[in-house]
Amino acid sequence: MTDRPTAIPASTQVLIIGGGPGGYVAGIRASQLGLDVTVVDPEPLGGTCLNVGCIPSKALIHAADEFAAATARAVDAGGSPQLGISVTGVGLDLAATMTWKDDIVSRLNAGVAGLLTRAGATIVPGRARLSDGKTAEIVTVDGRTATMAADHVVIATGSVPIELPHIPFGPTEFGAVISSTEALALQEVPRRLVVVGGGYIGLELGQAYAKLGSRVTVVEAEERVLSIYDKRLTMPLTRSLKALGVELLTGSKAAGLAPDGLVIDTGVGGQEDRAASDSRRRTLVADQVLVTVGRRARTDGWGLANIGLRMNGRFVAIDARGHTSMKDVWAIGDVTGEPMLAHRAMKQGEVVAEAIAGLPTAFDQRAIPAIVFTDPEIVSVGLGPDQAAAELAALGTAVVEGRFNVAANGRSMTLRPDQGGSPVDAGFVRVLARADNHLVVGIQAVGRGVAELAAAFGLAIEMGARLEDIADTVHAHPTVGEGLAEASAAALGRAVHG
Ligand code: FAD
Repeated sequence: MTDRPTAIPASTQVLIIGGGPGGYVAGIRASQLGLDVTVVDPEPLGGTCLNVGCIPSKALIHAADEFAAATARAVDAGGSPQLGISVTGVGLDLAATMTWKDDIVSRLNAGVAGLLTRAGATIVPGRARLSDGKTAEIVTVDGRTATMAADHVVIATGSVPIELPHIPFGPTEFGAVISSTEALALQEVPRRLVVVGGGYIGLELGQAYAKLGSRVTVVEAEERVLSIYDKRLTMPLTRSLKALGVELLTGSKAAGLAPDGLVIDTGVGGQEDRAASDSRRRTLVADQVLVTVGRRARTDGWGLANIGLRMNGRFVAIDARGHTSMKDVWAIGDVTGEPMLAHRAMKQGEVVAEAIAGLPTAFDQRAIPAIVFTDPEIVSVGLGPDQAAAELAALGTAVVEGRFNVAANGRSMTLRPDQGGSPVDAGFVRVLARADNHLVVGIQAVGRGVAELAAAFGLAIEMGARLEDIADTVHAHPTVGEGLAEASAAALGRAVHG
């Protein structure tokens, strides 16, 4: 950052270690509240999300969608008769795609720095290490060292990709073992990409590379990919992946590296794709092996051992205001646990800033939306069907469920080039509510363009909406969002279009 100040303050009211979504939002909010704030981070501001996570992955996914659509039209005898579009000579320059992505990231880095500076915060490009709960040793990116005293410390150091010890990140005989960070900076599309881990990051990137032309195999130890969601919700996605040629080797584990690729053990659990998983040990020939088996809290490098905070497993333990076990030391975001999502980190950042400023506040969200930006997209807010059944049974009531199929939605039809029948058409919006008073406890959707419905889903649950509130709200036509009203009406037994 060229506009970062070089002066390192000797003291500050609020020292924020890490300028990711948690840290920079805490910095802006605390500055707005009149506090003297210093944000320290050696990397361009925005953290994992902005630099190597949310934003670059969605840029790559968009480019892959555009490429796949253009290719499909060109292959389709030189045109897409339904849409009246003809395209020939489709090509891909992944290096140029990455330059476009990097430009978006740089603009956002500068945007975050500008927001912090305008709010009055000081940005120090460097690394902070706590020597006690009130003092940090700073090493700047240009090699200077300084000691900084702080009234309050906010730990917002995020998370890093988990490395498998027997499959370390780095160059190999066949190519390389990479994390999501390198996958978002490849200059050429790998011919054969093996993805280890069928969570949302692996599937988003795996599907994007499949659309860009890679032969993709996903290796997943569980019985299903995205196993945190119910099978009905993920089924349209698994069908879509298979239709794209992505091989899903579930019930399989990465065992080690071979000269030409990845050695896996199959049959370690259930298999979704049995035909492909009938032997016990095999080698998957690969040019790149992308390991996306989760992320771990970044608990090293900032002096945890010197201050000895209470931990919650591998995460820093906090209360509802983000306070740790040490007075005036706070923590937010991925370093504090699941769900490791940018919007959770941001909200925690606001809460901690307000708590430090002495305002009555707490992180008291009923629901944190989660989105899988695949094709089709998956959105989940609140409880899923199994959780809802268990939790409501304990309260002496049952779940009432309403579903609306997106195939019946007029706007959805106008968004797809085909005549229906693709796996994406199997999508739906689902509302789960208490049978006794119709309070909505969970909303999920799978389908093309459903990610944007997360706002309505989250608002409904946060506002304590009942089925009648949603069903009786006039939803604009034609929109994909009509599915929410239709699903709620279905739960009340009065669906009109379902
Ligand atoms: P981070 O963003 O990890 O930021 C931590 C910062 O702390 C870093 O900038 C680091 O340099 C700094 N730091 C670490 N140690 C020190 C130190 N000692 N001194 C100073 N600074 C330090 N989330 C979503 O909500 N939606 C998505 O679509 C999404 N997609 C993702 C896709 C991918 C490929 C990945 C990897 C993640 C994705 N995430 C997504 C998750 C999201 O990126 C994280 O949840 C979010 O970035 C966490 O924010 P944070 O502020 O807690 O930490």
